[in-house]
Amino acid sequence: MDELSLDERERYARHLLLPEIGSAGQLRLGQATVVVVGAGGLGCPALQYLAAAGVGTIRIIDDDVVDRSNLQRQILYSDAEVGKSKAEVAAQRLRAQNPLITVEALATRLMANNALELLAGADVVVNGADNFPTRYLVSDASVLLGIAHVHGAIHRFEGEVSVFLPSGPCYRCLHPNPPALGTVPSCSEAGVLGVLPGLIGTLQATETLKRILGIGLPLVGRLLLLDALTLRFRELRLPRNPSCAACGDTPSIRTLTDASGVQCASGESVNEMNEITPIELKAKLDRGDDFLLIDVREPHEFELCQIPTARLIPLNTIPQHLSALDPDAEIVLQCRSGKRSADALQFLQANGFTNLTNLKGGILAWADDVDPTITKY
Ligand SMILES: [Zn+2]
Repeated sequence: MDELSLDERERYARHLLLPEIGSAGQLRLGQATVVVVGAGGLGCPALQYLAAAGVGTIRIIDDDVVDRSNLQRQILYSDAEVGKSKAEVAAQRLRAQNPLITVEALATRLMANNALELLAGADVVVNGADNFPTRYLVSDASVLLGIAHVHGAIHRFEGEVSVFLPSGPCYRCLHPNPPALGTVPSCSEAGVLGVLPGLIGTLQATETLKRILGIGLPLVGRLLLLDALTLRFRELRLPRNPSCAACGDTPSIRTLTDASGVQCASGESVNEMNEITPIELKAKLDRGDDFLLIDVREPHEFELCQIPTARLIPLNTIPQHLSALDPDAEIVLQCRSGKRSADALQFLQANGFTNLTNLKGGILAWADDVDPTITKY
């Protein structure tokens, strides 16, 4: 297609008025494919603006379901959609918003073994995932595939944005190695101002459209920081690191399997792990089995609700408690949703602990299946 339809002319009229876009630019948007990893706080606004702008193919990758605690900032979802697939619900919304584009929903998790396939063919990948393994995975895959990567991250009242190119700089130039376990809390632990991902996700959409259109000065080699409390932007220079393992002069990361150490280091390993359901855990407790139940949430979460006999050891304090724990004891790990406790399990496993089990679905699943009186948050 080398001409806009009447429908398109009408819909994109305000773009067509801009000489920097015009019908040639609008056609480029229509021919572009953008992959958005994570349809959460950052992904929602980015997706909405990309769909509205007429990006021809949008692929959404998210294996999560809508949780009531998401609704404070994830503006594509409504109360009625709690429990439904984010990728599916988001795709439905976007198709209704702009029927002229193609929206693909992939309710799957981006992993080392599927990332190249899922990102292939994209012009730009927008990362809205809030965990480190996915950030490194998206960055490494983008370098390997030659795709521009629009990075965004948020924490409490602060956010950051940058654009990484296959020729560098990439995310590894900024952070060569993943942080140590538990040193960086996620949104579910630290909290985040609801509007903040809206600001950062919208900036990500801006850079994505500029990249496709080839206009303006891209946020390449620059890290833009936003502090919402003072509403001040700062910009740091982010040069390419010639010795970067991904985009450097002699890169050592040539496949994503090579990078899978990242996943173990940050806890979201592809390794199998033992899991226990809330019903099974209840039965163990009722039988009086001899095991240690460790709750790795933060103290303020522990105050809200807890599972009987659970001992509180917040994730980031586990390294200090290593010597006091018996590496051969049976240990069940538990958090809010099962993610942080999976991190803890990986960490303990790497430190020689042999008998570890993760509570599937965390205390949220416990509330659903065992104790409905518990405060869900
Ligand atoms: Zn790099």
